[in-house]
Amino acid sequence: MTIASYLCPACGRVLAADRPLWRCECGSHLNLAPGPGMARRDIASGEASLWRYAPALALSGPPRVTFGEGWTPLVSRDWQGVEIRFKLESQMPTGSFKDRGTAVMLNHLLEIGVGPIHEDSSGNAGASVATYAAAAGIPCRIYVPAAAPRGKLVQIAASGAEVRAIPGTRQDVTEAALAATGESFYASHNWQPFFIEGTKTLAYELWEQLGFRIPDNILVPTGYGSNILGLDRGFDELERNREITARPRLFAVQAANCAAFAAAWAADADRFAPFEARPTVADGIATPHPVRIAEVMGALRRSKGGVVAVAEDEIGPALAALGRLGLFVEPTAATAAAALTPLLREGTITADQSTVVVLTGSGLKAADRIGDLLVIGAA
Ligand SMILES: [Zn+2]
Repeated sequence: MTIASYLCPACGRVLAADRPLWRCECGSHLNLAPGPGMARRDIASGEASLWRYAPALALSGPPRVTFGEGWTPLVSRDWQGVEIRFKLESQMPTGSFKDRGTAVMLNHLLEIGVGPIHEDSSGNAGASVATYAAAAGIPCRIYVPAAAPRGKLVQIAASGAEVRAIPGTRQDVTEAALAATGESFYASHNWQPFFIEGTKTLAYELWEQLGFRIPDNILVPTGYGSNILGLDRGFDELERNREITARPRLFAVQAANCAAFAAAWAADADRFAPFEARPTVADGIATPHPVRIAEVMGALRRSKGGVVAVAEDEIGPALAALGRLGLFVEPTAATAAAALTPLLREGTITADQSTVVVLTGSGLKAADRIGDLLVIGAA
């Protein structure tokens, strides 16, 4: 198998992905060069995991660490009289979609011989990276916001990772992790493009689960945009392999209280547009400074989709409605369902279209907060 290449979007450098790098010498993030992708005849159909798409992944060999991640259920439910498909990424091994990206990123890091790692996370990616590091037997340190849900902190600590709780904003947590890059490898799911190489399997999976068809619309809770970028990369590969002839519209759903992409979209900009960040119950997407703004905006425009910002008081009702459909998810995931209401009302999404809502994280991640939000008291 050929070695993948990094491309620097800022200075144009091309670097072999055969060494531990988390950014370019010029300071920019790195992206992976377009991969060859795969055709449906190459699917390893006996693998009930994302590894059924291993031929499309930029790895040198079979995975050294896996929990059988991927191949999550896609279920249909009635939502305000319209049939909607919900993709249950909440049923991943650590309870969130992050396992798709982490599995591929960690296996890449193991292939190139990385030792101790650290990472910053609002919780779910930290839990995912800590879990896979434990399985790989490599030391791991996770920087988290001090205000992250306790369940997420407990999940990280239980894997044996060192937890550093940082007071202040999400950006303060990132700064603390950046300051530690001399101590261990910065295995950041937001910087490392192999994470996106993993999330791209969501595109393959939806296509296969829909009978080798694409949906018309995909709604995704969006903080840094790794699912948007993964979907764009996966559908691009399928299109180049002539497996599909059109692309789904991608809708990035944000909490209006912290909506960097909504601000950039409103300003018609491909770079950071200033906005006021306020607290949100959707802690998993409270991202004041996404790394790949231009790439995410490009993917949304290519897909002819857009950005939806959900008001804080719309999240609880969506969470409650999902619960009554048997879909117990964390508030962050409920934002994508909340976005359905305005999109259906304004006719952007219609009943005759096929629409997928990606439910990114389990309700078990934040049961205490959900209890507060839904005013569930002790019996
Ligand atoms: Zn560069």
